Amino acid sequence: MANSKKNIAVVGYGGMGGWHTRHLLESDVATLAGIWDISEERRALAAERGIHVFKSLEDVLGDKSVDIITIAVPNECHMPIAIQAMEAGKHVICEKPVCLNHEELERIIEVSNRTGMIFTVHQNRRWDCDYLMMKQVYASGDLGEVFGVESRIQGSRGIPGDWRGHKEHGGGMMLDWGVHLIDQMVGIIYDKKIKKIYCRFDHITNYEVDDGFKLDLYFEDDITARIEVGTSHFVKMPRFYMTGTNGSAIINDWTENCRVVCCKNWDEKNVIPVVTAAGLTKTMAPRDEKTITESEIVRPESDVHDFYRNVCLAVDGKAKQIVTHAQLMRVMRIMEAAFRSDELGMPVDFDDEIC
Ligand code: NAD
Repeated sequence: MANSKKNIAVVGYGGMGGWHTRHLLESDVATLAGIWDISEERRALAAERGIHVFKSLEDVLGDKSVDIITIAVPNECHMPIAIQAMEAGKHVICEKPVCLNHEELERIIEVSNRTGMIFTVHQNRRWDCDYLMMKQVYASGDLGEVFGVESRIQGSRGIPGDWRGHKEHGGGMMLDWGVHLIDQMVGIIYDKKIKKIYCRFDHITNYEVDDGFKLDLYFEDDITARIEVGTSHFVKMPRFYMTGTNGSAIINDWTENCRVVCCKNWDEKNVIPVVTAAGLTKTMAPRDEKTITESEIVRPESDVHDFYRNVCLAVDGKAKQIVTHAQLMRVMRIMEAAFRSDELGMPVDFDDEIC
């Protein structure tokens, strides 16, 4: 089987390039051909670690033994490198965000279609267990008619001080984390179209690009999804929350299980009111075990190597690529609508297609 492995070169040997090389070194479907990075320091580090270092991007693309290149460079370099690689006869795995706007993505897709080279994006967070559990809860129907889904990530360190803080490099949290969380949200609410989008961006530590945002996606059948990314939050809100006509589900943190609470007895009306300093409420009183069932979702098995396994099969025409061009374009258009909404200060209509 060894000679059927795909030989993959990684372009960009920074944080994520390092991650890819480590994964490729232990892959059962691929071998690491080597790396190329414009930084001498990063090239020297790779060589020190025993990784083959190419002399230039042209050197990578001219090497007939290389089947696929993985692009892990700052965001503004994704499109030119992807196009150059496909024109040179290489299949391409690109880091997220795919590129900076839908015009760039159209150009990439045109080249992929014309050359027949696979182009896909490393949407690795489709393999995160928290996401997979939420997807499972939604699809199960256990919560009744779902009407609200919330996905949040919050830190307190501001936006990183590297290229991510600059517009010319495609910085900002929407292009960094937003792209993952939107991709996940349309994966959870897999059967509904988005009708309207409203977004407000934060500029707490950075004025050039957003350092967080609150994005509301209004789906058909009155489902509202809120995606929130924050970098100035010292106490976190839950990672995921979903609520429907018959129950709610919550995941407090990345590593926690999903707790599901459903109503089992709508007829039980006996409520002990909550008494506060200024009054009492029955409406907001908690439920007891007479009317609810509580359960936990078992964490699913998940192996992010399946991403590379899929791409290698797709290259041989034995599988369809999991991360498709249509999905990439849909998420890009959602991000662009979010920026438009923020500029206008109001919700914008969205012409959607499920893919
Ligand atoms: P980084 O700054 O740590 O590394 C980028 C590397 O690219 C640097 O070593 C730099 O010298 C090199 N580089 C820059 N321009 C180049 C060029 N034209 N040719 C060759 N090398 C070049 O950044 P990072 O955190 O590794 O991010 C890289 C990409 O990976 C970004 O697109 C980012 O969004 C993505 N990323 C994805 C995930 C994920 O979970 N999928 C996580 C982190 C980063």
